[in-house]
Amino acid sequence: MTAKILDGKAFAADIRQKVAAHVATLVDQGIQPGLAVVLVGEDPASQVYVRNKGIATTEVGMASFEHKLPVDVTQTDLYALIDKLNADPAVHGILVQFPVPGHLSERDIVARIDPAKDVDGLSVVNAGLLASGQRAMVSCTPLGCLMLLRDTLGPLAGMEAVVIGRSNLVGKPMAQLLLRDSCTVTVAHSRTRDLAATVGRADIVIAAVGRAQMVPASWIKPGATVIDVGINRLPAPEKGEGKTRLVGDVDFAAVKEVAGAITPVPGGVGPLTIACLLANTVTATCRMNGLPEPEGLTA
Ligand code: NDP
Repeated sequence: MTAKILDGKAFAADIRQKVAAHVATLVDQGIQPGLAVVLVGEDPASQVYVRNKGIATTEVGMASFEHKLPVDVTQTDLYALIDKLNADPAVHGILVQFPVPGHLSERDIVARIDPAKDVDGLSVVNAGLLASGQRAMVSCTPLGCLMLLRDTLGPLAGMEAVVIGRSNLVGKPMAQLLLRDSCTVTVAHSRTRDLAATVGRADIVIAAVGRAQMVPASWIKPGATVIDVGINRLPAPEKGEGKTRLVGDVDFAAVKEVAGAITPVPGGVGPLTIACLLANTVTATCRMNGLPEPEGLTA
């Protein structure tokens, strides 16, 4: 069997189109969703991420607010900005680009953001709401994976899902979302005893570890759907000295011969994250204004 390759770029474009259509209806009602992104310091990779988020935000018709703070900004000054954004009715989503310099605490920063505007879904309030089956802002990458799974498989109820990785950013919210869709969910991690046998039961495998190509074809049940969240760099001397290439946590070339469907890296899960950030900002805007939630853009 050769797996269907799940095109994350095309699916993300679809999400963005839905977001843009919903933004247009909100603008017609006099409400323009707004996303504020805060960057501390001048890390080149973070600057690129922030710029891309700004472009994506304006492309779908939302307002983009960028705030750049010096690398030595005090916690007090950063909190003052977050408080201002929390109180600003033109801002519906707030994202502080991580990592931040060591003198600042990411956990405390997330806690300072109004949970209703926490479009990254990272606060303990949103994690708790999700875990207790209530309306939450959901972390963007797992939300994108869920949307892609529903689109590929239809209703997920009753399926065996194995999530490899238990981070607060990906693994845990992913497991909660699959449970909410009535999958039978196993969360595996570095202490899991027999990962091969555990993964071998799965109709749905989510790999979110950060170890290059660690999932071999021999672990995969024929026909399973494999979502590869991992982003790893391997040396690529064929591209030139010092060059690298991106690979996932799954041995893509081998697994695609066994799986029913699989996401590539790059071009799979990666593009979904920013698309879901935009979707979350629209959702937050609707909730704040007491409007119905956008269809197909929420968990
Ligand atoms: P973390 O490092 O926070 O978590 C990794 C998880 O993998 C941990 O729970 C760890 O277990 C588990 N793990 C480590 N080694 C093994 C092993 N040998 N067998 C089984 N489980 C293992 O990573 P993140 O969740 O933040 O990210 C995971 C990957 O996804 C990374 O490659 C990251 O770059 C990528 N990513 C991609 C995104 C995208 O947009 N596509 C967005 C976010 C992340 P334990 O808890 O026991 O230590």
